[in-house]
Amino acid sequence: MNTKDKDSQYIMHTYGRYDVELVRGEGVYAYDENGKKYLDVSSGIGVNILGYCHPGYTEAVAKQLNTIQHMSNYFYCKPAADLAEKLCSLTPFSRVCFGNSGAEANECAIKLARKYSFDKYGNDRNEIITLQNSFHGRTVTTLSATGQDVFHNYFFPFTEGFSYVPANDLDALRLSANDKTCAVIMECVQGEGGVNILDKDYVKAVRDFCTEKDILLIIDEVQTGVARTGKLYAFEHYGIVPDVITTAKGLGGGLPIGACLCTEKLKDVLSPSTHGTTFGSNPVVCAGANYVLDIVSKPEFLQEVTDKGEYLKNKLQSVNGIKSVRNLGLMVGIELEKGDAHKIAEKCVENGLLIITAKSLLRMLPPLNITCAQLDEAVAILEKTLKECL
Ligand SMILES: *Cc1c(COP(=O)(O)O)cnc(C)c1O
Repeated sequence: MNTKDKDSQYIMHTYGRYDVELVRGEGVYAYDENGKKYLDVSSGIGVNILGYCHPGYTEAVAKQLNTIQHMSNYFYCKPAADLAEKLCSLTPFSRVCFGNSGAEANECAIKLARKYSFDKYGNDRNEIITLQNSFHGRTVTTLSATGQDVFHNYFFPFTEGFSYVPANDLDALRLSANDKTCAVIMECVQGEGGVNILDKDYVKAVRDFCTEKDILLIIDEVQTGVARTGKLYAFEHYGIVPDVITTAKGLGGGLPIGACLCTEKLKDVLSPSTHGTTFGSNPVVCAGANYVLDIVSKPEFLQEVTDKGEYLKNKLQSVNGIKSVRNLGLMVGIELEKGDAHKIAEKCVENGLLIITAKSLLRMLPPLNITCAQLDEAVAILEKTLKECL
């Protein structure tokens, strides 16, 4: 049986797949079982942040794999301690809690916010405000945190205590807040929601409002983090410091990791036995993340992400069939003049360009070390595909 048939027979059908089996990758290119080459501007949904099989990265990971591949959280682990130190020294945060995915990092942030409030105000202050069109994960609680009705089906009862307000509407948020509110959670750029970049004034005002009310501001940086937007974390564009951020996708460079970071005032909230996960702080995964952070946190690297984002946006804006382009660094949403984005993405894949969608937009999240020549190549395939489709 070939892979496609086996997949259909034995894997639960929770994803619609492109009709391609990827068997290997090198740099920004992936190859299928027939050796056909694909330029990948999706990087596994922002995960392969240094592309496929970056030599330094695979070396760092393999070295750790051949040293010690796992120990439980009851023992000290140098790659995890190094990674936590690195994250804290590169950000305004003081403590890190490791997990294995974005949803888990958000679960941790939600537990932290509720416990902070419980410890300080008692058990009736536990509600969390989230934005419409947000995406925070697929666990029962992070589905609750996700402000899209389509996700609030089938799995009742959902975790209580979430309310939803429109983005960039400070009055709506102020009205929604009450004595029971303990946190606000938002993405600076809504990724799955359609690459919606929040207004600077709004985010600043939310920060001030939260500070005034001792409501924790959680920024979900699962997709925007790890240099994706040209800053190590997207909140840096807004001139604010959140109380908590969550990071995942690109952090492990292709291996599963999630982390929740908090400021000094929250450092002791999650006390012994209040949170944990077996695979969190895995040394192999942390070795990969240490390698990734060393590269992407360099100021020159971050500047290049910004420059390449601008370059790509300008190129895309002159393509026939594209109505508008919005980006922060190399997080790019492409609004089409007409046509179904999913169908066009499928055609792009046939033409050798791995691209994804976000709502009615095409979305690019290329590896951050992609070159301008490779971006030209991506735009050329997209242009050709749009010509064929429209
Ligand atoms: C992908 C994503 C998540 C969920 O991450 P998983 O690793 O799939 O659990 C949460 N928040 C945002 C903003 C995301 O883009």
